[in-house]
Amino acid sequence: MKCLYCQGLMEQDTSPVHIDRQGYHLTFDTVPALVCSQCGEAYFDEQEVSKIQAVIDAIEVSSVPLRQRQLPVAA
Ligand SMILES: [Zn+2]
Repeated sequence: MKCLYCQGLMEQDTSPVHIDRQGYHLTFDTVPALVCSQCGEAYFDEQEVSKIQAVIDAIEVSSVPLRQRQLPVAA
């Protein structure tokens, strides 16, 4: 497989993933990916993408009550 942007050689490596959502940011430091040795573009495996999606879904579900409840909670 060659890079879609520069035709560079792809190597199995890891790449960080940053996700910005309303109210929080998620950072995965080392997600397995094919990374272009020339321009650094990362291509993620569908399997890795769905793992990350599952994490986002879990956070979304458990953070809804948090957002609905106005702080403070210590009582
Ligand atoms: Zn490239």
